[in-house]
Amino acid sequence: MRFADVKGNEGLKKSLVHMMNSGRLSHAILFVEENGGGAFPLALALAQAVNCRQALPDDSCGECSQCYKIGKLIHPDLHFAFPVSSTSSLTDSEKKAPVSDYFLSSFKELALANPYFTEQDLYEAIGLESKSAVISANEARKIFEKLSLKAAEAAYKTIIIYLPEKMNPEASNKLLKLLEEPPQGTLFLLITHASERILQTIRSRCQIIYLQPTGGAAPLNPALRESFDAILQAGIDKRIIDLFPEWENLAGLGREKQKEFCLFAQSYLRKIFMVSCGLEGLAALTSEEEARVRTLARKIKPSFYEKAFIFLEDAISSIESNVNPKLVFCDLCDRLLLSL
Ligand SMILES: [Zn+2]
Repeated sequence: MRFADVKGNEGLKKSLVHMMNSGRLSHAILFVEENGGGAFPLALALAQAVNCRQALPDDSCGECSQCYKIGKLIHPDLHFAFPVSSTSSLTDSEKKAPVSDYFLSSFKELALANPYFTEQDLYEAIGLESKSAVISANEARKIFEKLSLKAAEAAYKTIIIYLPEKMNPEASNKLLKLLEEPPQGTLFLLITHASERILQTIRSRCQIIYLQPTGGAAPLNPALRESFDAILQAGIDKRIIDLFPEWENLAGLGREKQKEFCLFAQSYLRKIFMVSCGLEGLAALTSEEEARVRTLARKIKPSFYEKAFIFLEDAISSIESNVNPKLVFCDLCDRLLLSL
């Protein structure tokens, strides 16, 4: 799976490639998608790109041995974990502690036939009956074992964890330990439908990537949008004085709210970028939002988006490192203004 083969999310693919090429890719990425929203093919394209032996500037080659094996899901350094439960197809001993490995062939068959599978498609493919599926502590131990081994041939051992919100507390704590002290050369790619149900301590270890919804438009948070609109407008008009109330307001929020603002701003910028490329359908905006975004898109230089994305990443890292929030937001607003 090359980035070029992944449907939609063009801005996001560009950002991932940019982060990868500039050495800014985190060792743990949390993809937030709607059910069936295409995070799996995106994660696979990323795993392929970081391991490709003849990578092009913006994508994997799709032809080398690493690309071939990752694309066919047969690479020895590419691992998968997903929620399971005991099913009638398992042996009696397997039923006691079911793990993803028992269902791997069904999982791969599904993912190859339809990489845009939904949670329900997965449960159907593995023959899950009425029981609810979980990622158990036993599974977390397996993940630990797999990642502790030396990579067989790839640059990165990669684990794709589908629906980490289904981890029980014991499994979550084991995963947290792994994220805190990751085995060398490991890439964790997590795909969630409910990021708020994942331990905050796990989320904060991950770079969070929001995929564009494939369905209709859900209205954006109006307060966040107005605040970021005001910053963009002040930047476009080069009116530094208009930035003061915004950064003071942001500096006064709690850390979680500040991070939420930065993540919102990244996702909002992607929408503006899409509209500027004529991809209104992908931006999934309401008609009122689209009118506002069109006005902004006309005034923003194409080079701004990537820079702004990085400034916001930097702001998130600073917030997480307890840098004085006044400095963080003053710096962020300044850098945005200078780049607009
Ligand atoms: Zn390749």
